[in-house]
Amino acid sequence: MKAKHHVFSNKDITVTYNPSICTNAERCALELSHVFRQSVIPWIDLEADSNENIITQVKRCPSGALQFCLNKKEAC
Ligand code: SF4
Repeated sequence: MKAKHHVFSNKDITVTYNPSICTNAERCALELSHVFRQSVIPWIDLEADSNENIITQVKRCPSGALQFCLNKKEAC
């Protein structure tokens, strides 16, 4: 069965998470734990830090499970 992408948005950005390719290395949760939370639902809190810091962390995801887009510029 194909896993569904999880979608999180604030007013400026949308972050998607694809659990089927996540390597569970926990880089996101270790490096920006107040945004990428391990035991709270919804697990990504896009209000917890600046968009710049969140985007930087998304780009550090080694598997590509985390992606982002800018709400105004792209069809998310
Ligand atoms: S950084 Fe990417 S691969 Fe690592 S746990 Fe987070 S989503 Fe999964």
